[in-house]
Amino acid sequence: MAMLEVNDLHVSYGAIKAVQGVSFKLDKGEIVALIGSNGAGKSTILRTISGLERAKSGSILLEGTELTKLKAHKIVEQGIAHVPEGRRVFPGLTVTENLRMGANLIKNKAEISAEMEKIFDIFPRLKEREKQQAGTLSGGEQQMLALGRALMTEGKLLMLDEPSMGLAPIIVEEIFEIIKKINAEGTSILLIEQNAFLALNTASHAYVLETGKITMQGSSQELLNDERVKAAYLGA
Ligand code: ATP
Repeated sequence: MAMLEVNDLHVSYGAIKAVQGVSFKLDKGEIVALIGSNGAGKSTILRTISGLERAKSGSILLEGTELTKLKAHKIVEQGIAHVPEGRRVFPGLTVTENLRMGANLIKNKAEISAEMEKIFDIFPRLKEREKQQAGTLSGGEQQMLALGRALMTEGKLLMLDEPSMGLAPIIVEEIFEIIKKINAEGTSILLIEQNAFLALNTASHAYVLETGKITMQGSSQELLNDERVKAAYLGA
């Protein structure tokens, strides 16, 4: 059974048809990327999976469980962790307090501490800054914190919305190494990226989205070699 299966999904904002019949799937342990330019509908798909937008029609199955009728907090309980576009950490709270916000599902204190230690193992930089207010962190550190907070939910599917946005290339490289490591440890990942080269070098499969519809799909290798993808997304 697929980790995630999206079938014929339609999402609208009033008269704007943002997502028009999108279908894709992600197997357990995979990294799958959705690529496409600004406004193609990528964020809307993630937001709908998370229950932040409502599907007009279609289905979203997480290991066979239908998500489209569930409230957002129930979807988190099902195992979806979402790192939204623009990171959105709580700037006035410390690193530790931000991480704790992600731990709503874990009830006891010992478990929360253990989980936080795991996060600090992945991101030693966050450990060094644990008492610092999130608003004073660099962009890269805030992205690490947003990732860490999502990991605190111990979800089985991590959804990342443009993790490279606004970051220097060297920091992007560091973040993507961490993303691959998180995946290698067993978390499935749905990745949205405008940087197609980066996405295709991280994911095993990818789907190209154009104005709300999937226009191409395949293994990352196939797409990297595809003339249309090269011309439209890889600056070749
Ligand atoms: P970006 O990288 O800019 O976020 P995207 O591929 O993620 O692009 P979406 O943000 O999903 O695209 O937007 C898809 C379409 O829906 C666009 O035409 C956008 O203008 C529109 N849209 C997105 N959010 C809203 C909203 N809250 N209200 C109305 N229209 C919206």
